[in-house]
Parts: sequence; C-alpha cells; structure tokens
Amino acid sequence: MNLHAVLVAATLAAASLIFLVELHIVFRGGAVKKRYFLLLVNSIFILLLGHLIELIGGDTRGAFSGVRLLYLGSALTALFLLFFVADYCNIRFNTSLRAFLTAASLLYVLAAWTTDVTGFLYASMSYDATVTHYLTYTPGPLSHVLRVFPLLYAAAAAVILIYRLRRAKGRLRKALGIMLASVIMPHISEVVFYALSLLRQHRANLYTTPYILSAFVIIIYYGITRYDIDADTVAAFAAMDTISEPFILLDEDMRCLSSNNAARALFPWLRELPRDTPVQSHPGWPAELSEPAFSGGNASVDFEPEDGGRRFSATINPATVKRRGGQALWSVLIRDITESANFIKCLEEAAYTDTLTGLYNRRHFSEIAAPFIERARRAGMPYYFMIADIDDFKDINDAHGHLAGDAVLRGMAQVMKRTVRPYDILARWGGEEFCMIITDIEEAGVLRLAERIRREVEVYECDYMGKRLRVTISGGLARCDDDSDITEITRRADEALYSAKAGGKNRVEMWAPRRPEPDA
Ligand code: GH3
Ligand code: MG
Ligand code: MG
Repeated sequence: MNLHAVLVAATLAAASLIFLVELHIVFRGGAVKKRYFLLLVNSIFILLLGHLIELIGGDTRGAFSGVRLLYLGSALTALFLLFFVADYCNIRFNTSLRAFLTAASLLYVLAAWTTDVTGFLYASMSYDATVTHYLTYTPGPLSHVLRVFPLLYAAAAAVILIYRLRRAKGRLRKALGIMLASVIMPHISEVVFYALSLLRQHRANLYTTPYILSAFVIIIYYGITRYDIDADTVAAFAAMDTISEPFILLDEDMRCLSSNNAARALFPWLRELPRDTPVQSHPGWPAELSEPAFSGGNASVDFEPEDGGRRFSATINPATVKRRGGQALWSVLIRDITESANFIKCLEEAAYTDTLTGLYNRRHFSEIAAPFIERARRAGMPYYFMIADIDDFKDINDAHGHLAGDAVLRGMAQVMKRTVRPYDILARWGGEEFCMIITDIEEAGVLRLAERIRREVEVYECDYMGKRLRVTISGGLARCDDDSDITEITRRADEALYSAKAGGKNRVEMWAPRRPEPDA
C-alpha cells in the first residue's frame, strides 16, 4: 500500500469520525456549550475535506480547489477555536472584537482563494503526485503572513487557557489541561510543517495537522462529555470570583480545593500553599477556624486576622459530593463584619457610659465593681471606695445656667480621669457626684491620691463662654478589707463625705468606726 492511499484513507476516517461527533453533539443535548464547539467541529470537517480533495485532486487545478477549502477550514477553525475557548472560560469578547476577528479570518480566506489570480499566497504552484500528492509552490508576498495568521488565534486561545488554568483545581484543571494540549499540539505540528517547508524550499512534506487536529477535537469532546466538566463548571468558578465575600472550598482533610479572588486577597498565601497541605498548618489561617470548628455540622465562627483592624465571620457548611464517591467537603464563606461589630461596640459603649462626661455610668460601675471587689477580697488586698461631690454646685447652675454647670461637669470628669491611675475605676455616680475604686495602694497612698484629685479640681478653671468657673469637691473614702459588701462600703463612703461637707467642704475624709458615745 502506498503512502497516498494511506493518507486518503486516514483523511476519510478522520472526516467520518468528525461527522459522527457532530451528530452526537446535535442529538445529545445536555449542558455543554455547543454553539462554538459545533462551529469548530464543522470547520475542521471542511479542513479535512479540503485536505482530501488536495490529495485526490489529480492535477494543479484540482489540488488547488482542495487547498481553497483547506484554507477556509483553517481560517474558521482558528476563529471558532478562539471563540470556543473564550466562551468556555467565560471570557466575553465584545461585539466589535468578535467582528474584527471574523473579518480578519474572512480576509485571510479571500487572500487564499484568489491566490491563483493575485499570487498573494503562492507565486506559482504545481501538483506533486510523486509521494504525498500536495501542491508545491514558490511563495507569494503574503505567504508567510498567511501561515502565521492561524497561529496568532491559537496563541490567544492558549493564553486564555493558561490564565484560567493557573487558578483551577481538580477536574476543571484536567479539563482545561486537555484543552490547552489540544490547542497547542496541532499548532506545533503546523509550525514543524512550516519550518520543514521552508527548509525544503516548499516541496511537499507530510502534512499531519489535520489528523492531529481531528484527534484532539475528539479528545476534547470526550473529555467534556465523559467527565461532565462543561462550561457550567467554569461559569460557576468564574462567578465565584465576582463575589466580594471570600469563599473557600476545603476537602475533608482541610486541604484547599478552590478559592475565589476575595479569599486569596484575604489570605494571599493560599496561592502558594501546596495542594496537599492542610490550610490550618499555615500560620496565616485563623486559629478560630482550626479543625474543631469543622467537627460538627454548620457553624459560624468570628475571627480577627493578626494584622488587625477588621473582624470577620466565617460560615462553615459541610457538603458531600455524590459523584466523588460521597467525598465530604467544607465550604467556608467569610463576611467582613467590622462595620456591624463596631456598631454593636458603639451601642454597648452607649449603654455603659455617661453621655455628658464620657465616664462609666453608675449601672456599669456596679457591674464591673462586683467582680473587682470579689477578686481583691480573695487576694486579701485592701481597696478603697471614694465618692466625690462638688461643693455648692447648685450655685453654679443658679448663677451661670445649667449649660455652664454641664461644662463644669465635663471638665471635672477630664481632670479626675487624668489624675487617677489607669487601673482605678472612675464613674459618674449621679448628678454632681463621682465615685471610684482604688486598689493596690496603702492608706497613706490613697489619701495622697484623693488629696491630689481635690487639689487638681481646686485649681481647675472651666472656661465657659469667656467666664472662668471654679469649683471644689469634697470626698468621702472608705477602706474595705473585711466582709462588708458594696452597699455597706457605699454607706461608709457617704458618711465620710457628709463629714467632709460638715467639716467645711473642699476636703477629703477617710471613714473610721465611730468611737462609742460615752454614756451620759
Ligand atoms: P453641696 O455642697 O452640699 O453638695 O451643695 P450642692 O449645691 O452641690 O448640692 P445639691 O445636691 O443641693 O445640688 C446639686 C445640684 O447639682 C442640683 C442639680 O441641679 C445639679 N445637677 C445635678 N446633675 C446635673 C447635671 O447633669 N447638670 C447640671 N448642670 N446640673 C446638675
Ligand atoms: Mg450632691
Ligand atoms: Mg454638691
């Protein structure tokens, strides 16, 4: 059997197979994005027919009519391969780009079809019936341009596939890999054929591209239908990238199967993490999202990344994939809750602070005082309770108005706040009274501190609408190191305050048990 007969038979076989694929596409239905694929397969069918006609053309004219078809097939194949790949990878070409690409390939066909008149492609040609039955030719002015043209389209398709492949995992990665190989292989064959024809000065070589192209189209189709990796999967992955919430898919061993752009922005190290490494082995993975969080069913976990500032809430959902033999998966959807967390913090602050002075309000003071006192008592540590009351504050209000009184209260709060130590608890007890708990200090020390507060207030001038308002305070102190509860301590501090007022105001007194009155 000679080579010519083998080539004719191979071409016929390839064309028949391609035709069967077309029938299958048309009648199968299903979710595969068929439009461009069908056009691609048709184009390859035309290319094969052209090749066949060139083989059996018999003379230069007959072979050239085959070459015309071959170039038509080649232009359409390049065009629809690019469209198909872009469509599959969910990359949208706008109308003008589509129109430009189509027009360019039609011009290419025109240049090839009129070459017997214009000499664009072949300056002259003759039919070589010795071995391969192809045209041999001397190249025309556009010969090289026309050779390179389909390669540009294929290169664009390859770039798109590589771009998608970089972020794809699992079966999608396989599908895209197959597709990339099927784009590259026929074009390698094309480049080799072209290089050989340059070396051999355009004498006929064995032209393998149509067979390789057919084989790879069949493989793509097999891959798509067999593994059920169709455009919907790619669409789902592309859609994930448009979601602003980070989304991560983990397998049962906490290895990352896929993640969207937002997740990789939150955890940039996800890009480099080896596929077989569990996410929690990376220090950047929040400790709150370690394995125990994944032990139950649905869970919601809050965390704050170490670089700080923001707060997130992760919703963890288990899923099983039937097609993968019941493999367990975890989906992790992360929401940035910084705003709402801050809002809640504001609400909480509003609930426990006094709006006028910004100090703790009395209710919150009581809440935090109880455990504080309990701890001090258990540690056998004395602590002091102090109530400070502004002297003759009514006079300020009466003389300058309530707003002036408010300004004085605000200023006073600041003076006291900067005078007490950071770990003393200071609050507005009510009206023009302030209270504090002072720990970790001996009696002489606490008296000095109280005295310092009194003096700071005494020298403080409140600037209200050009007026300089001054006040003094009286303070009552009570020491607690026994079993007396907060009510009793308060009573004692009040008693000491009363005594300070009675003793002339602008002074601080420490409560002491009253000596029993001598019997009359
Ligand atoms: P004393 O030296 O005996 O403490 O005399 P005082 O005038 O300070 O005591 P009194 O309890 O008679 O009056 C306290 C005044 O404080 C009465 C009230 O109008 C005023 N006051 C209480 N809360 C506020 C406030 O939030 N803003 C203003 N401007 N005044 C307040
Ligand atoms: Mg008072
Ligand atoms: Mg007062």
